[in-house]
Amino acid sequence: MRILLTCVLFTGFIFISNSQRIFIDANLEQNLDLFQLREPLRLWLDFLRSDDDADGSKYWNQHEVDEFGENDYFQLNDLDYFDLGDKIKTLQYGTIVLSITKIDSLYKIMSQLKFDYSDSITMTPFIFHVYAKIDKESGRLQLYNPFPINKALYTKSKKVGGITYVFSKDHHFNKRLAMKQSRVLKRVAKEFNLGSVNYTFFFANNRKLYYEMRGYDFHFENIGAEHPSGKADLNKNEVYSFGSNEYYPHELLHLLINPKFKNAHLWFNEGFVTYFGQSRGKSLDWHIKKLALHLNSHPEFSFSNLLELKNLDDMTDYRYVIGGLFIKIAYKKGGAELVAQLLNGGKSEEEFYSSLSIVFDVQKSEVDSFIKKELVRALD
Ligand SMILES: [Zn+2]
Repeated sequence: MRILLTCVLFTGFIFISNSQRIFIDANLEQNLDLFQLREPLRLWLDFLRSDDDADGSKYWNQHEVDEFGENDYFQLNDLDYFDLGDKIKTLQYGTIVLSITKIDSLYKIMSQLKFDYSDSITMTPFIFHVYAKIDKESGRLQLYNPFPINKALYTKSKKVGGITYVFSKDHHFNKRLAMKQSRVLKRVAKEFNLGSVNYTFFFANNRKLYYEMRGYDFHFENIGAEHPSGKADLNKNEVYSFGSNEYYPHELLHLLINPKFKNAHLWFNEGFVTYFGQSRGKSLDWHIKKLALHLNSHPEFSFSNLLELKNLDDMTDYRYVIGGLFIKIAYKKGGAELVAQLLNGGKSEEEFYSSLSIVFDVQKSEVDSFIKKELVRALD
């Protein structure tokens, strides 16, 4: 959906936008002198009017430019909405600076990315913020990413069993759940001969809080029903989750197994972490039972074109639940060794079916009846 809209709109923008569309909201404009906000505003506008991300880096603090490089120092990667590979160029398609607030010596600058496609269609993918403050070394006012500052202002952390939990200051930490999570990870690490656990796990009670912490006061993904969700950053060994609590092992298991089983097919990879670590906060058995009941009322449904299936609904994904079912059967039949065989079987469709044939002696034409038989068994 997003890709389609993006392409249609972007084609339009090529014709309608040949100048930088950067605006200051009138409410902010009227208060600039009263609250002495001209300097941070000028810095932000100079940044937005730079040629590209590399050119804009001179307005950013050197520490983050050194850490992430000239093109990635601005860490709000979702802002690269058209996949241009350049956030400043994207923002020049339509940004309104909404507000600047001051907390001690820190300026919080909030802006809206907004595209007017026609008189009747506008799009706001994000309202976001960055910070400006005086850099101690250079003595100049410079720009900063929101997440590290928000983390310092609004979160605390606690380390349990190799996992550093980062959470809201007003959350009462549940050590019992953290220890339960550590036991899951340690057990999987031991059984599958994986490395030691050393991760950062950021969690927030709800989606809004999660996005705000990361710098998005509005995010286009924050629409519709809210279910527990998470993302793993394999490069940084970090997990971000919301809508759940200390116990959300799914994404942490990705950090643990993805580097070891690089050749795993997506269905087995997601199936593994769902079997050992849930999906959307619900156990694999919960999802299996739901799918089995769905099948009872839709007996005509077929798993023949298995790999084309995606979502049963907004909670249950076929790839996770059927992938998990395969892992569950393999684990019961031959333990970690047989599961590892599935995970090492290759990423292609051909290799996926070949793995089913080797591990379960099931040919492609028999997959539908095999899954249905196993789902019926799950209801017993
Ligand atoms: Zn996953």
